[in-house]
Amino acid sequence: MNVLVINCGSSSLKFQLINSDTEEVLAKGLCERIGIDGRLTYQPAGGEKEKTDLAMPTHEEAIQYVINALTNEKTGVVKSLDEIGAVGHRVVHGGEKFASSAIITEEMKKAVEECNELAPLHNPANLIGIAACEKLMPGTPMVGVFDTAFHQTMPQKAYMYGLPYEYYEKYKVRRYGFHGTSHSFVSKRAAEILGVPYDQTKTIVCHLGNGSSVSAVLNGKSVDTSMGLTPLEGLVMGTRSGDIDPAILEFIAKKENLDIDGLMDVVNKKSGVYGLSGNLSSDFRDLWDAADAGNEKAKVALEVFAYRVAKYVGAYVAAMNGVDNIVFTAGIGENDHGVRELVLGYLGYLGIEIDEEANNTRGQEIMISKPGSKVNVLVIPTNEELAIARETVALLK
Ligand code: ADP
Repeated sequence: MNVLVINCGSSSLKFQLINSDTEEVLAKGLCERIGIDGRLTYQPAGGEKEKTDLAMPTHEEAIQYVINALTNEKTGVVKSLDEIGAVGHRVVHGGEKFASSAIITEEMKKAVEECNELAPLHNPANLIGIAACEKLMPGTPMVGVFDTAFHQTMPQKAYMYGLPYEYYEKYKVRRYGFHGTSHSFVSKRAAEILGVPYDQTKTIVCHLGNGSSVSAVLNGKSVDTSMGLTPLEGLVMGTRSGDIDPAILEFIAKKENLDIDGLMDVVNKKSGVYGLSGNLSSDFRDLWDAADAGNEKAKVALEVFAYRVAKYVGAYVAAMNGVDNIVFTAGIGENDHGVRELVLGYLGYLGIEIDEEANNTRGQEIMISKPGSKVNVLVIPTNEELAIARETVALLK
């Protein structure tokens, strides 16, 4: 079956058409600047990438262009819409309602809508994408795959904040965690590569990208993760602060005369390694170049980032009373051997021995610990689209 995977943002839409039998990507692309002007990037497997400016006042036009591209006589990959058997939608927040993926129905959409408050930037956009697909592809079964679902197995001691209990009861203020599709995909893949049963192994996943999170996966279930109610908690990220003393907000508000929106803008968009580096860049390639050229702030940013990752790994070794596998994934985790080296430099006490030559590769599935290492350390490229396609097919069966 061909599955169209849709990841819809407020002004963008990423898509992949995947043959779920061969797991081959038939075509992929991106719609950008929806609601502003509009641009479609489309690439069929083995073909050239084409960019076209097209008017996209709403997501509906964007999806229509995606369908046109996929069925185009020359560069399309299917003859008609009939050859698309299902659509898998990424949905960011499923709250406590969704501990797994769900077939999209009226009732399901209502439940997702009730989670909008928890992810006001993401969930409404996901629902708009779903509605547009429903309109243009009536009768095609659709599935929602949640970023939060994998972490619903966290025990209460891990997901409760030290706040008045009534906030949890009244407003569902608790830790949810994100990147679940990725944490699930790579932790499972690690067990496969190592030939160990997934339900009998302790894995820590470091998903390090623009947004970053670490998770503790005990016997195939997430028992803790570094993101919380929102994707702001935990690691120092590209532009997000991660964990800070909450009293800093009041302190800075007074000093800089900022209201809560202004403060949220600072901790979401002006902090992280970007802020730490003196607004140099949130891209780790730029930070290494600057650090190598003697820029002290860039060096500090890289050190703060890696130190925080190492501290979370240490915390999750405690949470699981040990660790068998540590996996690095996402943009930085897969490609940045320098960051991996910095992080692993703190973890010698675990009996980790790194194969430097293996660590010096990038973007490929590889074991970077030596055969005698007490903990297996792996780099595993994440593939959230494939995971969504698999979930979609599994659920429809
Ligand atoms: P997201 O999906 O959260 O937007 P990604 O997982 O694609 O992010 O990661 C993007 C980040 O990965 C970039 O900001 C950059 O810092 C980092 N990155 C990508 N390629 C490299 C590389 N070759 N070396 C170091 N860092 C890289």
